[in-house]
Amino acid sequence: MTATMARTKISPAAIELLQSKLRGELVQPGESGYEEARKVYNALHDRFPAVIVQPADTADVVAAVSFARDQGLDLSIKSGAHNVAGFGTNDGGVIIDMSGMNSVSVDPANRVAQIGGGATWGDVDHATHVFGLATPGGILSTTGVAGLTLGGGFGYLTRRYGLCCDNVISAEVVTANGQIVTTSETENADLFWALRGGGGNFGVVTRFEFKLHPVSMVYGGPIFFPAEASARVLRLFRDFIATAPIEFSGFLGYHEAPPAPFVPEALHGHKACAIVVCYTGPMEDAEAAIRPIREAGPVALDLCGPIPYPALNSMFDALLPHGLNHYWKADFVRELSDEAIDIQARFGPEVPNFLSLMHLYPLDGAVQQVDKNATAFTYRDVEFTHIIAGIDMDAANMSARTAWVRDYWAALHPHSAGGAYINFLMDEGQDRIKTTYLENYPRLVETKRHWDPENLFHMNQNIRPD
Ligand SMILES: Cc1cc2nc3c(=O)[nH]c(=O)nc-3n(C[C@H](O)[C@H](O)[C@H](O)COP(=O)(O)OP(=O)(O)OC[C@H]3O[C@@H](n4cnc5c(N)ncnc54)[C@H](O)[C@@H]3O)c2cc1C
Repeated sequence: MTATMARTKISPAAIELLQSKLRGELVQPGESGYEEARKVYNALHDRFPAVIVQPADTADVVAAVSFARDQGLDLSIKSGAHNVAGFGTNDGGVIIDMSGMNSVSVDPANRVAQIGGGATWGDVDHATHVFGLATPGGILSTTGVAGLTLGGGFGYLTRRYGLCCDNVISAEVVTANGQIVTTSETENADLFWALRGGGGNFGVVTRFEFKLHPVSMVYGGPIFFPAEASARVLRLFRDFIATAPIEFSGFLGYHEAPPAPFVPEALHGHKACAIVVCYTGPMEDAEAAIRPIREAGPVALDLCGPIPYPALNSMFDALLPHGLNHYWKADFVRELSDEAIDIQARFGPEVPNFLSLMHLYPLDGAVQQVDKNATAFTYRDVEFTHIIAGIDMDAANMSARTAWVRDYWAALHPHSAGGAYINFLMDEGQDRIKTTYLENYPRLVETKRHWDPENLFHMNQNIRPD
């Protein structure tokens, strides 16, 4: 489809009526701002929606949802736009671009934040850090709170304070019939259960209420080892995590050392295995707590030390900007076996360029303290989740990047728990979605039937109501 084709689908009168209900912007093909507004983070998805609504408030969201429903159009919701499967955009339909609804207000006495449905983790860090508070977000500050949290969400504070969705106290949601509902453990509890892991299937979240925790300065950053040492480093990381203090969060990754200012030139282009640390315990205990990591192998570069949490949370933003091409595969890992480590050590050092990566995130600690049926996010009995991402500036290189990802993943998959984190999936079909929710899937279908029986919200890892 092209912008011209996208424009012809809807009557001008219907657009005019929608426009009259909005305080925010309505952008159509050919208008200034359209080219920017139609884009999502993953450049592989080059689509041409007919109408983009940039709501100023919840009433605007109601108008946009009702318009898409009444016109029978595909409806995409985007907040941080990071969804790599491309659900944040479409051809000929409607996008609700929530990014303008990004205000964050903090109640420091009660350690609670009200977070707009279009905020990024950078918006949250900015508002909470002045009070010496934070909540678990992702590992970049540019990712959206909504998409990440609705899929479960994990990052630097997860082993200590749980998944992002575990920190949601309540949410305001615009449902498929245009109702505005509040949902919490005590109000519309079925919807609250489903929102915590079930993705964007149930409505548009216009506001979250989040718990905050006393996190300000942390001891963190990456420690790089030569890729040749990676089997040893991986074994050490696995064993370290099994008994690591709850104050330790972080992850292990394979990378090619980027041409970044913080990397000495002599290391640019070298393959490395890195452990990125975030220690939130007392600063005076940090060095002793992470000593086993520093002793895991010959350290090539050590950038770990005291750092404000928002600085750690945004340290890698510039390395992964919007507009690159992404192909991802992922799995949950119940136990990291020696065989799986050997496979990692075979494929990881072949990471093809400085953008592509493998990351291994621990999912133990506070994540496992919540019952696996207490929220829609099911895989709480695994130790890790990995993601293999082929990333390139040039779409012409993507078949080679994709081949590396597929071969790597296929070798590891037999050692996995079966399902994959919903937010790391591409568009991989219904079976993969069911394998990810396991016994929670029927309850998700039931909840979908109640809140969205016509499947208006289907541009997502879809829970089908039928
Ligand atoms: C560079 C990068 C780093 C990442 N790091 C992490 C990480 O550290 N931890 C982690 O858990 N995940 C991580 N992810 C995965 C991330 O969780 C998903 O990409 C997620 O979909 C991003 O959310 P978003 O709001 O930015 O994306 P969007 O594309 O805006 O939204 C994704 C989906 O969420 C739904 N949605 C979005 N906003 C709303 C809303 N307001 N109401 C209802 N539904 C909505 C829609 O279905 C939409 O298709 C990362 C992704 C990228 C690209």
